[in-house]
Amino acid sequence: MIDKNTTQIETIPCKICLQEIPSSVNQNAEADEYVSNYCGLECYQQWRDKQLEETE
Ligand SMILES: [Zn+2]
Repeated sequence: MIDKNTTQIETIPCKICLQEIPSSVNQNAEADEYVSNYCGLECYQQWRDKQLEETE
């Protein structure tokens, strides 16, 4: 998914799997918490599940 040649695009590491994701997605109108910090919904849900476990 990530093209190493697109070095001009700023990337941030996914908070779960540390995969680099383009920070430009933050500008998407549909940008939500999970697309800002995670490569996808799966990683976001992993993080969210962990938060729930720590809370209980
Ligand atoms: Zn990820």
